[in-house]
Amino acid sequence: MLARLLILWLVFRAVPAFAGQGPLRALDPEELSIQNFLQAVETAISTLDRQRWLDLQSSAADRDQAAEFFYAMVPQGITRVVVKERDRAALQGTLPGEGYRLIVEVFMETGARGRIATWHLDIRRPRGEDLGRQPWRIVAEERLASIEGLHRLSLQPDKQFAVKNLVLRAVDFELRMPEGEAFVAETPEGVTAMVLLGEGTMVFRPMPKEERGQLKLFAGSESLETPFTSAFVRISPFEMEQRITGDMLQLVALDARAYRRGLSVFEDSVSKSYNLDLSDLSREVWSLLPQPGDFVAEVKTRRFDDLTYARSSGEAEDVTMFHRGRKRNICAYASEQKLASRGRFYDEDDSVDYDVLDYDVDASFYPDRDWMEGKTRMKIRVNTNGIGVLTLRFADSMNVSSVMSDELGRLLFLRVRNQNSVLVNLPTPVARDFPMSITVNYSGRLIRQNILDESVSLGSADGQRNAQPDDIPTVPAEPKWLFSNRNYWYPQNQVTDFATARIRITVPTDYRVIASGITEAGSPAAAPAAPSEGSTRVIARTSYSFVAPQPVRYLGVLISRMVTVDAATVALDIVPAKAPAPDMRGADTLAQQIMRLNAAVLIPPVGARNTVVLNVEANRRQESRAREALGTGADIIRLYARLTGDVPYDSITLAMVEDEVPGGHAPGYFAMLNNPPPVAGFNWRNDPASFQGFPEFFIAHELAHQWFGQAVGWKNYHEQWLSEGFAQYFAALYAKEKRGEPAFREILRQFRKWAIEDSDQGPVYLGYRLGHIKGESRTFRALVYNKGAAVLHMLRREIGDEAFFGGIKKFYAENRFKKASTDDLRRAMELASGRDLSRFFERWIYDNGIPSLRYSTAVEGQQLVVRFEQDGDVYDVPVTVAVTYADGKTAEFIVAVNDSATEARFPLTGVIRSIDANPDGAAVAIIEKK
Ligand SMILES: [Zn+2]
Repeated sequence: MLARLLILWLVFRAVPAFAGQGPLRALDPEELSIQNFLQAVETAISTLDRQRWLDLQSSAADRDQAAEFFYAMVPQGITRVVVKERDRAALQGTLPGEGYRLIVEVFMETGARGRIATWHLDIRRPRGEDLGRQPWRIVAEERLASIEGLHRLSLQPDKQFAVKNLVLRAVDFELRMPEGEAFVAETPEGVTAMVLLGEGTMVFRPMPKEERGQLKLFAGSESLETPFTSAFVRISPFEMEQRITGDMLQLVALDARAYRRGLSVFEDSVSKSYNLDLSDLSREVWSLLPQPGDFVAEVKTRRFDDLTYARSSGEAEDVTMFHRGRKRNICAYASEQKLASRGRFYDEDDSVDYDVLDYDVDASFYPDRDWMEGKTRMKIRVNTNGIGVLTLRFADSMNVSSVMSDELGRLLFLRVRNQNSVLVNLPTPVARDFPMSITVNYSGRLIRQNILDESVSLGSADGQRNAQPDDIPTVPAEPKWLFSNRNYWYPQNQVTDFATARIRITVPTDYRVIASGITEAGSPAAAPAAPSEGSTRVIARTSYSFVAPQPVRYLGVLISRMVTVDAATVALDIVPAKAPAPDMRGADTLAQQIMRLNAAVLIPPVGARNTVVLNVEANRRQESRAREALGTGADIIRLYARLTGDVPYDSITLAMVEDEVPGGHAPGYFAMLNNPPPVAGFNWRNDPASFQGFPEFFIAHELAHQWFGQAVGWKNYHEQWLSEGFAQYFAALYAKEKRGEPAFREILRQFRKWAIEDSDQGPVYLGYRLGHIKGESRTFRALVYNKGAAVLHMLRREIGDEAFFGGIKKFYAENRFKKASTDDLRRAMELASGRDLSRFFERWIYDNGIPSLRYSTAVEGQQLVVRFEQDGDVYDVPVTVAVTYADGKTAEFIVAVNDSATEARFPLTGVIRSIDANPDGAAVAIIEKK
């Protein structure tokens, strides 16, 4: 297989998984004849016997070509050969049992080197009475793909080195060992692995400031200089030679005890990187050579256990530090060299080889067994030239039975263990823009997902779990199954990928299905009954079909016992964009002119629609709450449509379901809202953990995700605040409309409180990594959700309402059904406001400081003079100053603090009783009166 696969396999362990190879097959005489044939192929290769190979050819085969194939494919000096059948299909133009196209994998060892080749062998046997006795013969053979350069590494038992002032460097990383022992593993290209034993020092000094911050959270200091007792290093042999200079390593007499210690480090580490698991081809560990520039060190430190440093030049963030024990990424960032080649920002789409245009999922789900079976057809377009392997993301628990392509026929595939991946091998590399359809058939046990992205659970509001008193009996929540972006329930691209879709899900008739899309005409429809497991009963079933004409980032499905509560067509308050003036040239008659005028008026503005259908479905016990939700949902949708100038989808469904913890999740076209099951005497709305005075918070947040998170996606994990921060801010805007200024200010104060409390954990731009090192998801929500929203509000106050809301419309329109970045938002807001906002975003999103402001006030005549000062980095932070007059009247002014000292003057209308700064909590700053 191709180079791309090699990169994929660096850390993955692959296992072939093919259909139809049950243990019974060996007993079948037909099967036996094919196994005998493959055995003969194996013998011909292992004995390097070209004549045997030619003897396996059919009289119809081209013998010269067969000889040439053997010569080209089979290297001299072979020490071991394994031939395994991977796929079998009837050979075209043959009768049943007369001919097959076999796909075989051939693993060839030459000493410590290995290669895997994928061949197809077309085999036939003569027709006749005694069919079974005739041996198979090859009519054609072809190499499909190969992986060269596999090495079975072993620690040289005859070479021990004394270490003297050894220094090994990689980007921002150093291993130093003044004295110690070293052992090596060699390939014909040179040394590629080394074990160091002794008292060494590991130094890691990440260049980016925010990564130093993360390191500090982990290790207590911004750079790590820590003793280690052993290290395992992988490097390209060429670079090893360059780096080991002078007398850093001196060959010494072998010390058996030291070697045994070295061997234990080696065996513990060698399979952790650049390793292939060849499954039934070989039980041994086969490794690839690191590319020049790549480097891995597994370091056993005294204080921090096992740390893994890696430089992987193929990754967008090529430098990583990983804590093995806790499975945490400590640091991940782009080196200077990487930044020079890719720029400051990146798009995860650049790392994938294909684009999915459309999904067609047709699956059955059995809730009692958590079992799903079905097929998914993906229409894809290839992005890179000469791609030979497609990597699909798909749940490990799902067993794939076949992968077919309309264009290329039956495709060979591999499951990658523990990576939720399927590698699909293309028989011939395909060119850029090659359109393909791939159909995957599968079945397996699916675990419902925990909600995470485009979601909020109670606690995002102020970080507390719903504190339910222990002594109140709880009613179990109605079961539900959510399959969405986290559990890879259908074969999909490796990253979220805007695509249209059709989804058909068949379930037992007492369940209902909601999915990403509009309900298709004729849905739901009766489906064939299914036998129930372990009884003679049959299960009545119903199919639900949905179509998503507007692209969605990922597909979501919710299955539960629900009822349709209500539906409404929501009239939207969108001012349609002006249609261009009709071109009247050549419109001579009045009729022609009227026709053109009509045509011009009828041109709908891109993306705008006047109405949207809102459906509400619910678990039975949530029906009354769901009825209220219809009006609330319609109000919210109208507000968001006004703010963005659009509703992205033709219909939106609200699902009011039950869960012990309130929260929700919102894939495209629907929003799921968790409501606690009924509990005597307990009302979660009075819980201090929800936004006080704003019970519609969850529904407003989840609905906002239809616009931000779904219609507008994010380019990589750093940009997630564009989804959550916007959802949180839009929810706050709805709170203001519905509940008034006091409710809005209460929310702003909570945003500010969490932003200030947790900002020392890193910048908003770190996305999921916020709180990751400490396993504290509250930190993630405090910053990505609440600080993100607070920053949007500060931006609005900084540039004014007109520019801000104009900028939002622009940002939304430009990024609808695309992945967006903070930089896209900055540009839209700069164009709308005519201001340079680079410092604003630099401080608030890419950095994590909280400004400390001191202020003083003075009255000069009829004017109030307010002076703000800040030290260090200058933040752009608008602060509200409230004046209360002696007669009880109040006035508020906004001071745009944009410098280390800012002075503003405001007219006064009376005698001042008191002055207060930041009463609304809008400024995320510590503010003190001088
Ligand atoms: Zn959310």
